[in-house]
Amino acid sequence: MTRERADWQAIADSLVPRTQAFINGAFVDARDGRTSTTIDPATGKVLANVAECGDAEVDSAVLAARTSFESGVWSRASSDTRKATLSKLSELIMANLDELAVTDSLDMGKLVTEAAAIDVPGSAMILQFYAEAIDKLAGEIPVTPPGSVALVRRVPLGVVGAVIPWNYPLEMAIWKLAPALAAGNSVVLKPAEQSPLSALRLAELAAEAGLPDGVLNVVPGRGETVGKAIGMHPDIDVLTFTGSTEVGKKFMSYSGASNLKQVWLECGGKSANLVFADIEDLNEAAEFAARAIFFNQGEVCSANSRLLVQREIAAEFIAAVVAQAKAIKVGHPFDPESTMGPLVDRGHADRVEQYLGDGAALGSVAAGGRRLTIEGSDCYIEPTVITGLPFDSAPATEEIFGPVLSVIEFDTEDEAIAIAHNSEYALAASVWTSNISRAHRVSDRLHVGTVSVNTVDALGVTTPFGGFKGSGFGRDLSLHAFEKFTGLKTTWIRY
Ligand code: NAP
Ligand code: MG
Repeated sequence: MTRERADWQAIADSLVPRTQAFINGAFVDARDGRTSTTIDPATGKVLANVAECGDAEVDSAVLAARTSFESGVWSRASSDTRKATLSKLSELIMANLDELAVTDSLDMGKLVTEAAAIDVPGSAMILQFYAEAIDKLAGEIPVTPPGSVALVRRVPLGVVGAVIPWNYPLEMAIWKLAPALAAGNSVVLKPAEQSPLSALRLAELAAEAGLPDGVLNVVPGRGETVGKAIGMHPDIDVLTFTGSTEVGKKFMSYSGASNLKQVWLECGGKSANLVFADIEDLNEAAEFAARAIFFNQGEVCSANSRLLVQREIAAEFIAAVVAQAKAIKVGHPFDPESTMGPLVDRGHADRVEQYLGDGAALGSVAAGGRRLTIEGSDCYIEPTVITGLPFDSAPATEEIFGPVLSVIEFDTEDEAIAIAHNSEYALAASVWTSNISRAHRVSDRLHVGTVSVNTVDALGVTTPFGGFKGSGFGRDLSLHAFEKFTGLKTTWIRY
């Protein structure tokens, strides 16, 4: 069924946002009654006043998580029970698809149709994957001297702290929660202050699915307070983070200054898309190149924000990408005609606008380049293509996290690889070529977490996702995610 804007608006109007923290199976206010607002960037209007938690709430949440973990109610529950509970949660996500899609769209500006087609069903599917995986993992029996046997098992680690960003509010929560809970841990989750609403609703759905009290706690609040309190907490065993490299570094310090909790970081990116002159279909490659940066307003960690194009085809290729950029219709995220929504908030739009200025000064703007005010909100940025930038300039090396593509021309394969590697990040890259040897050769040499060949930003629940260098370490998705949320435990038996 295709929905009109009024249909989505009707769902939005009927929403009752959950605004309190979810601790030990109950919604509670912050102890001092403090709240902060979350704003709809498409209108600038306040969506809800959400509990602004602090140290006290983090302490209660960690205590609830620890108590539930030690009780064994979840950590030692049968694999059947855990599988059934998480499967039920997956079903409840699908049953509440429209509401969850509207919630994330309102909270951070993404197109509601994309939230409904990708984020919400994707979250349900990922949860189902980990629910099904629970009883498919096996331990090891290594060779030991005669008269002994050693059992090596993966055991849950205890209390997991999860701190996530606002670009995929529901999905980022699920990337962390699904494997952490499947493995038997208890979790304290802090959503981003710009987008706390879907995580709070998710906690309620998890309780409805039968997740015992205290196993999942959601503590909304600011990074500098709640995020730091989680990072520094002496009774959290593992910290899983997605966000900027700058904040990722802080979590390493928090761990060192507290209890040496394990820290797993999925940080920023400035992924390069290498387009060689031998591509089969220039228009198709240009269409993908545009999608790779403009999807989700460019607020994607693995966005291909640097287009590296071989000089022979550069003029034609850039023209095709520019045509794609100009065809994008920026507008209200509930409008079925819109193909790009607003950025998450004014502060972020200010930051991206700065880069538009820097880009125009250092290169030339081939498409877009302006901030837009639509229906009274100035959180919109035109899809922007900047050419002629020095490969080492700020707009071509720093993560903008918005719809801004830097185009750099190259002559040789070696040069393209060198430019791609000129980055503090190493999350992803794409390679376009019809030469199979080149496809392998270049993929082998690119030092990034994921290389996509003749596509962009390929990703799936069965494959690990994450980066090297400033993009962090540890992997989300796939069975490898269990490595973060379990520890190897050996039991020797002499007989
Ligand atoms: P961010 O500013 O780093 O924030 C991420 C989370 O950390 C938020 O919950 C934030 O809380 C919290 N935080 C902020 N300052 C903190 C501090 N001093 N101590 C503890 N926690 C703190 O990132 P963002 O702006 O939300 O998201 C954009 C970034 O996420 C980009 O760099 C993007 O590349 C990255 N990202 C990476 C991946 C990946 O998988 N590699 C995926 C998506 C996004 P507040 O809400 O209060 O700020
Ligand atoms: Mg918001």
